[in-house]
Amino acid sequence: MQQRDAWRLAALFLTALLVGTLLGRTKWCLLLAALGYIVWMHTKLELLLSWMRDHKTHEPPEAPGAFEELSLEIDYLRERHKKRKKKLASYLKQFQQATRALPDATVVLDARNEVRWANNAARRDLGIRWPEDIGQRVTNLVRLPALRAFIERADEGEAIEIQSPTDTKRYLSVLLAPYGRDQQLLVARDVTQLHRANEIRRDFVANVSHELRTPITVFRGYLETLEAQAELAPPAWRPALTQMAAHSERMRQLVEELLLLSNLEREDRVPQPEVVNVSELVADAHARARELSQQREHLFSLEIDPHLRLRGSRTELYSAFSNLIFNAVHYTPERGVIRIRWYGDEAGAHFEVEDNGIGIGPEHIERLTERFYRVEQSRVRSAGGTGLGLAIVKHVLVRHNATLHIESTPGKGSRFRCDFPASEVVDVREEDAKPQVRDAG
Ligand code: ADP
Repeated sequence: MQQRDAWRLAALFLTALLVGTLLGRTKWCLLLAALGYIVWMHTKLELLLSWMRDHKTHEPPEAPGAFEELSLEIDYLRERHKKRKKKLASYLKQFQQATRALPDATVVLDARNEVRWANNAARRDLGIRWPEDIGQRVTNLVRLPALRAFIERADEGEAIEIQSPTDTKRYLSVLLAPYGRDQQLLVARDVTQLHRANEIRRDFVANVSHELRTPITVFRGYLETLEAQAELAPPAWRPALTQMAAHSERMRQLVEELLLLSNLEREDRVPQPEVVNVSELVADAHARARELSQQREHLFSLEIDPHLRLRGSRTELYSAFSNLIFNAVHYTPERGVIRIRWYGDEAGAHFEVEDNGIGIGPEHIERLTERFYRVEQSRVRSAGGTGLGLAIVKHVLVRHNATLHIESTPGKGSRFRCDFPASEVVDVREEDAKPQVRDAG
């Protein structure tokens, strides 16, 4: 309590005591003085409260002593708070201006994938407007099945490429970055240049391969004729003819596989999927593999579920499955065991080729599906492969929404498994079990 207040209170009670003694009513006078003091304090407190709540229309209470100090202190704190708020608001504004000006489209999504905030680039590249689209589901604003599937999967670190919904000539790479509590940032970067460069590369490879096709065919035609009459050629030329024929066949295979790869790369999905009978397809590949195995007498074991079919492209699936089976033949020594399985479970359907061949070191597994990746140079040449087989397998699987898993131990063997999600599988057992609707007419 302030000294002045203490003196004032003491004076009040002394006066009350004096008057009370004079009137012979000391207790009453003291009580009256205390009551008066309480009422006065209460009125001033009320005024102080009203001023605190609304300092614009109310005046601070005019009371000397503690009340005056209190209102000055409150005034000071209020000013300080105001300054701090202003500073924070200016920081926030600067931060928002900076993020709004970011060249990459950035959208803040909540747990329900509804838009909370978006920058200028999001309006330009994704058509998401802020603040107009606040509370709207991002998948309702950008209606692309690939983006919807990506957001539902919400795989951290993964990115997908989409066409910009506002300008189909532009391509965006989209990724999701979770932060805070159930929030995530959707960031879309313009990758049109990269996409163009990839397109140019793919077209270049496709054009060169296409142009090489005719000369190689002519070349091979003449070589076949020469080989058929090899006895007419001088003996010294005969091995050269055989070598030229083998290499021209390798060149043909290379060109065909390069062309196939550039076609597979053109789109992420099979354009017109059909229902493919996998057991028939595997039987064909198995027959070819037996021819390939010849005197090496591999032991084949087949476990095939004939009821499981796949939605997709027969030729592409044949390419992928036969590549895996032929690789097993190439890289398994004679009398080795090659196990081929096609089975289903709750996750979907799986095609698996297992061998007890030479195997692959763990350091190579990650890179096996890269074009021309070779575990050892000598292996390719001796086995006659192009180095494109597994790249083709990977691309075919991407187009069928499937993934490749490789397990291998050097000297023991390898297992290549293609996992197809249930959405791509047709089980004809279930189809047959469905009640048939017959036309009563
Ligand atoms: P290639 O035409 O050379 O077989 P692929 O892309 O099919 O090319 O395979 C890439 C490399 O992976 C091969 O060169 C080979 O070293 C290795 N590889 C593939 N399949 C097997 C297998 N079943 N066993 C051992 N190595 C394999």
